[in-house]
Amino acid sequence: MSVESLFPRLEALLPKVQKPIQYVGGELNSTVKDWDETTVRWALMYPDAYEVGLPNQGVQILYEILNEMPETLAERTYAVWPDLEALMRSEGVPQFTVDAHRPVRAFDVFGLSFSTELGYTNMLTALDLAGIPLEAADRGEDDPIVLAGGHAAFNPEPVADFLDAAVLGDGEQIAIAITEVIREWKAEGSPGGRDELLMRLAESGGVYVPKFYDVDYHADGRIQRVAPNRSGVPWRVHKHTVMDLDEWPYPKKPLVPLAETVHERFSVEIFRGCTRGCRFCQAGMITRPVRERSITTIGDMVEAGVKASGFNEVGLLSLSSADHSEIGEVAKGLADRYEGTNTSLSLPSTRVDAFNIDLANEFSRNGRRSGLTFAPEGGSERMRKVINKMVTEEDLIRTVTTAYTQGWRQVKLYFMCGLPTEEDADVLGIADLAKKVIKAGREATGSRDVRCTVSIGGFVPKPHTPFQWAAQADHETVDRRLKALKDALRGDREYGRAIGLRYHDGKPSIVEGMLSRGDRRVGKVIRAVWEGGGRFDGWSEHFSYQRWMEAAAEAGVDVDWYTTREREENEILPWDHLDAGLDREWLWQDWQDAVNDVEVEDCRWTPCYDCGVCPTMGTEIQIGPTGKKLLPLTVV
Ligand code: SF4
Repeated sequence: MSVESLFPRLEALLPKVQKPIQYVGGELNSTVKDWDETTVRWALMYPDAYEVGLPNQGVQILYEILNEMPETLAERTYAVWPDLEALMRSEGVPQFTVDAHRPVRAFDVFGLSFSTELGYTNMLTALDLAGIPLEAADRGEDDPIVLAGGHAAFNPEPVADFLDAAVLGDGEQIAIAITEVIREWKAEGSPGGRDELLMRLAESGGVYVPKFYDVDYHADGRIQRVAPNRSGVPWRVHKHTVMDLDEWPYPKKPLVPLAETVHERFSVEIFRGCTRGCRFCQAGMITRPVRERSITTIGDMVEAGVKASGFNEVGLLSLSSADHSEIGEVAKGLADRYEGTNTSLSLPSTRVDAFNIDLANEFSRNGRRSGLTFAPEGGSERMRKVINKMVTEEDLIRTVTTAYTQGWRQVKLYFMCGLPTEEDADVLGIADLAKKVIKAGREATGSRDVRCTVSIGGFVPKPHTPFQWAAQADHETVDRRLKALKDALRGDREYGRAIGLRYHDGKPSIVEGMLSRGDRRVGKVIRAVWEGGGRFDGWSEHFSYQRWMEAAAEAGVDVDWYTTREREENEILPWDHLDAGLDREWLWQDWQDAVNDVEVEDCRWTPCYDCGVCPTMGTEIQIGPTGKKLLPLTVV
């Protein structure tokens, strides 16, 4: 049955809202397929505003892969701003896709990609506007399967009541597999309704269906047991890993935004996974092992993507791009290819070594000099050992000084506050380090015209990391340490003016902490916050700590218990039945090593230290070098 476009009704509202262009679709490389010629239809959402959601790689990749499949359609939807939400409610316009402005409720799957837990309230807005019941238990046969992916889906328990399903890990292959399961079920006449469909997805492996698991609790609130409540459902659900990135060279045709977005460039992921072993880094832990894209595929993707989009900036993405085994060749090859054109290259580089400066120089041959960011993360040598960030003060000073002598006048240094075992002195160490950097920079350049910006994020312990057992620092402690740091920098007459400081207060991290390590009982807090007006919690101007605390108190949820409480080794954690491949004993040992300042090397260059991922997932590290080179582009 055909589905009407909502655009005529939406169009009447657009003159009354801010940035109406974000809702109109029709971007270069967007796709609109005939509804009636397809049998499985996905609405994909990045649950934030268009300006943040459009550049999201995960959504763009799935959008393209699904639309390439015959009889399959994928469209995108984003969070609407409160001004349009109010008008949609008063005029009865439901949540729509931006591609063909079809109602989200008409799709088979409503797939959401969560990079951060602070997008949960936006999911509830979208469900409600779509006319889809908020709780999975209330949904009927005409409602789509609400499916979560992305890094936050590695612990979807706080939103378990709102989800029909979740998938862990790389989405490319599992999205295709889910599509085929749905297609087959529909072709058979949808036997057993959505319950059987969910059962088929759960049985096929790799799709977590929360309602098929019961959670029991001890009297003190800890989890006693998480167990399947029907036969055929696996005890543990595993993550998905795409092994050969060269086989999945997406996006091939990047979307070109109509409205301003946070990134306006074509991004090519040059490898996935990271084994540097930074203990705070959930992304590094859950995306293991390292899988590189080959230099030739990177070259081909850049060429095709630039042609298809007209973007004049290309970003080489990964968790630590300078670690690609042939990054020097990639940088030189691409810089040669695009020298003299208006295509510039950037590398979000965070590793602290001089090699990064060589790369940055290579990439700035085209005249554009991008900012340099280094992330020592911890302010003292001891702190950096705890978090396994193997950077010495000497390394940092040498690297930044090299940048200053090579013409950079400004560098950004990224740190975290609230790390496990952190003391006031560790945070004050950030000020000392920044001053030493400026002092060395002035000496090396003979000029006072060198600056650095210290940017600080609040640490949040994350599931599937060695810090999953750690006590989160309370926001008063974090704020006190940040204030002391600010005073130490501002009060310094010699260096204070050369050092900028950027930080947020510690309150949002507490909410993020509760959502990150929460269980199903936290769901009612999320719902109450949303009902109380919570929207766009990732935006400081919309976030209300008070609203979250009041909702938690009303729901009888003890925020401290979820955040500042250290867990014991044997406590069942809400995500223990979700398998990121990491061996729980290894994670515990790594947590003990952290407390004892013991460092772990990178298994790319040292023997495997048995984190568990490769044997559990049947995967292996895949790195070059391939020895190949990028040849000049032939001009036809
Ligand atoms: S199993 Fe071994 S080789 Fe594989 S990611 Fe873990 S430490 Fe590295």
